[in-house]
Amino acid sequence: MSSTHRASRPLALITGSTSGIGLGIAEALAAGGADLVINGFGAPHDIEDTRARLAAQHGVDVAYDSADMSRPDAIEAMVRGAIERCGRIDVLVNNAGIQHVAPIDEFPVDKWDAILAINLSAAFHTIRHALPAMKRQGFGRIVNVASAHALVASPYKSAYVAAKHGIAGLTKTVALEVAEQGITVNAVCPGYVLTPLVRKQIPDTARARGISEDEVVRNVLLAAQPTRQFVTVEEVAALVAFLARRDTASITGAVLPIEGGWTAH
Ligand code: NAD
Repeated sequence: MSSTHRASRPLALITGSTSGIGLGIAEALAAGGADLVINGFGAPHDIEDTRARLAAQHGVDVAYDSADMSRPDAIEAMVRGAIERCGRIDVLVNNAGIQHVAPIDEFPVDKWDAILAINLSAAFHTIRHALPAMKRQGFGRIVNVASAHALVASPYKSAYVAAKHGIAGLTKTVALEVAEQGITVNAVCPGYVLTPLVRKQIPDTARARGISEDEVVRNVLLAAQPTRQFVTVEEVAALVAFLARRDTASITGAVLPIEGGWTAH
């Protein structure tokens, strides 16, 4: 974070915000006037372009931290560093996530471990390091980007579904622990959003189910959603930005579907 950070602007840290939903959330929070710490992988020049564009377009400070969400030491350094530089942390969005699609008896152990680490344990670590500052402030907004797969399962996604059900439980537990301290903790549960994460799983799902890639989109992905439409990045970002507002203090411990009616089935 540059030295120009103004204490009057809230600080939002969004994990996995170099792409897809996380980048959309960063855009929405910057548009609402928050300084940002963005995080995630990518080509250094692309990340710098994104960082500089967000700052210039919205007139806020934007820092980038390359912390790997599978490494607890890097997560601690990222959160502590942000708080030390800015003196506060108002909004924490746990969004970084990966996916792997395979039958359970063929599921690579390293993929299981990575999905549990990045999609679930990373949030445990960011939250435990951010909470002391939020408690001191008497204010905090934590939003976990879960998934419709926090509420229902699909075959061949054992690690992802386990991690996302886990983050729903983590959300509720932390919400109860900090309910009297001005801190809300919620999860949003998107259906399918056409980001790189979803594009990458289409060929594997086709292989696992023995169908074409077109059939995966039509008969697996969009078939789950009564709207027959992908959820958009902008819709998810708007919900997260809403939960990050100060006037949402009574929404906490919620696990909110945004999935075109999928879990109403
Ligand atoms: P994406 O692949 O576009 O973005 C993932 C982000 O996480 C990227 O910025 C990537 O660099 C980052 N990331 C991955 N591994 C990381 C690591 N080890 N350390 C730090 N950053 C890392 O995917 P997306 O679809 O935007 O997914 C974002 C979140 O939304 C995930 O938690 C995902 O499970 C969830 N989600 C996505 C969908 C969907 O349909 N796309 C649906 C429901 C939930």
